[in-house]
Amino acid sequence: MESGKEDHFCPRDGARLVPPEESDRSAFTRNGIFHCDTCAGMLLNAEAAESVICAEKLGQMHEGFTDEGTPIALDCPFCEAQMRVRNFAFQRLDGSLTEPIEIDGCPDCTSFWLDSGELQRLSPPEGNGARPARMEANALAVVLEILFQLPVVLL
Ligand SMILES: [Zn+2]
Ligand SMILES: [Zn+2]
Repeated sequence: MESGKEDHFCPRDGARLVPPEESDRSAFTRNGIFHCDTCAGMLLNAEAAESVICAEKLGQMHEGFTDEGTPIALDCPFCEAQMRVRNFAFQRLDGSLTEPIEIDGCPDCTSFWLDSGELQRLSPPEGNGARPARMEANALAVVLEILFQLPVVLL
């Protein structure tokens, strides 16, 4: 099948990001996650997300970047706009908030960049933490999918 889709590259190390449709893990395709096999970072894009819940959540998060957020030295892998950073938390069922995580968002399109270290703060790696980036990205995508079931809070 001719995809005609452009490649996107990791804003941290320049490696080609593995698009959701090339991933064998459903968590990536449902949530529109492009991941980096080098650093385990993840790029989320609402338009690439199959899951309506996820697309809605990303749309909500995007509103937090259109007028606010601190500009950072990171170009959006989709549209090359300068990205911005904000802190988010997720609200657990008992009303408490998770640790805040830093998410880089694009003010122009619904793209978000998550460094693997940010999600690891919510889900410390098992064992000695020396998982290869590919496995790490798989684990983090599952964490993210669980988080997306919860209300997101802008800090
Ligand atoms: Zn990377
Ligand atoms: Zn963008």
